[in-house]
Amino acid sequence: MTISFDLTGKTAIVTGANTGLGQGIAIALAGAGATVALVGRSSMMDTEAAIAAIGGQSHSINADLSSIAPVGDIISETVRLSGSADILVNNAGIIKRADSLDFTEADWDAVMDVNLKTVFFLSQAFARHLVAENKPGKIINIASLLSFQGGIRIPSYTASKSGLAGLTRLLACEWAGKGINVNAIAPGYFDTNNTEALRNDPERNAAILARIPAGHWGKPEEIGGAAVFLASAASNYIHGTVLPVDGGWLAR
Ligand code: NAD
Repeated sequence: MTISFDLTGKTAIVTGANTGLGQGIAIALAGAGATVALVGRSSMMDTEAAIAAIGGQSHSINADLSSIAPVGDIISETVRLSGSADILVNNAGIIKRADSLDFTEADWDAVMDVNLKTVFFLSQAFARHLVAENKPGKIINIASLLSFQGGIRIPSYTASKSGLAGLTRLLACEWAGKGINVNAIAPGYFDTNNTEALRNDPERNAAILARIPAGHWGKPEEIGGAAVFLASAASNYIHGTVLPVDGGWLAR
């Protein structure tokens, strides 16, 4: 039996693909042969150019994921532009930092809406499409080390990412029998906008670096291999797992 990581003929939806980890994942999926639907509220120009430079295919779909209003259109637009929707990467996410004693309802709701509520309803719209078409598919949620650990000063983020690990397991149990794999990637500390505040704080930066066995902050191009694996036939019997890509952080 040949094990295949090839995504030729598949279309992958990647949310928040304009920068950071979403961009790294979109480029990796395109490199493995998928057409990529780049979904978000910012210009996808840089990601489109990077994908074109490796001979890949992409389409951009404008959507603000702070509400669930666009979820149906994201699936139908992807199918209209690319002919199918086979892989969904729920990457878009936000973080709000403040002491829990001072944390506001607005910061709680904003994070839970993007990181958890929209992820569920976009996954539901995607799975309904697959079931209606009687097709298999792959869902990859971008979780966090805060799916396993508590952290500090990010209560809604930790709640959302811990919830996302649970949601990954629940959806895997419900949809594995329908040929839909639901898994998650838990990135460690990566050099993106999301972690800028930590890298700008010399004490936190040094403490984080000292704990990473690999000895460096992750680079967006270091996340793509795990996404290709979970999107491909090579992972067909993997359901409900949360795969850390963390330079060894959790092993410490
Ligand atoms: P980032 O801030 O660079 O990227 C976040 C992406 O989400 C951007 O593309 C942004 O436009 C998009 N987004 C946010 N709100 C949106 C909205 N309302 N509508 C549409 N798009 C929206 O940070 P990143 O590190 O690349 O984050 C990507 C994912 O990885 C997030 O879910 C984040 O929680 C997760 N993550 C990051 C790290 C890390 O160390 N960087 C660690 C663990 C998990």
